[in-house]
Amino acid sequence: MTRLVRLEESVADGILTYAQDSYPREAILILRGRAEHDEILIDEVVIPPLATHGSGFSTFTPQMLPMDFRLMGVLHSHPSGALMPSIEDLNHIYGRIMMIVAYPFRSYSNIAAFDKEGSRIPVRIVPVSRHPDASVDRNGASANSRTL
Ligand SMILES: [Zn+2]
Repeated sequence: MTRLVRLEESVADGILTYAQDSYPREAILILRGRAEHDEILIDEVVIPPLATHGSGFSTFTPQMLPMDFRLMGVLHSHPSGALMPSIEDLNHIYGRIMMIVAYPFRSYSNIAAFDKEGSRIPVRIVPVSRHPDASVDRNGASANSRTL
């Protein structure tokens, strides 16, 4: 049972920027970090390999990802502005949590986290704890693509 998601500020900024850049297409990002008791810290997001812009979250295939113990879940954007998972989204939860960023992707209040039942989990924006430059890791994403 996850009671709190701590999201590093630079990661939150990267999520908003990436969603803005992808708009009006849907953006998908892998959430990496660690779980501690009933809290999850997200300190990195990675563009998934094979994420084809515009194809949508429901066609995303996490089975193609390498084994990743730091993978906490997947985030996708809702260009519609709906800050809640669709039924389709809830059928495709991968990892411990699902996060959604909703249009207009302008503030941290546009970012929400949900558990497997679709219940909202509070998100707290926290200062960067380790990697000062962690945000959207474009190089990491291309490295993963080569692995596949
Ligand atoms: Zn969705």
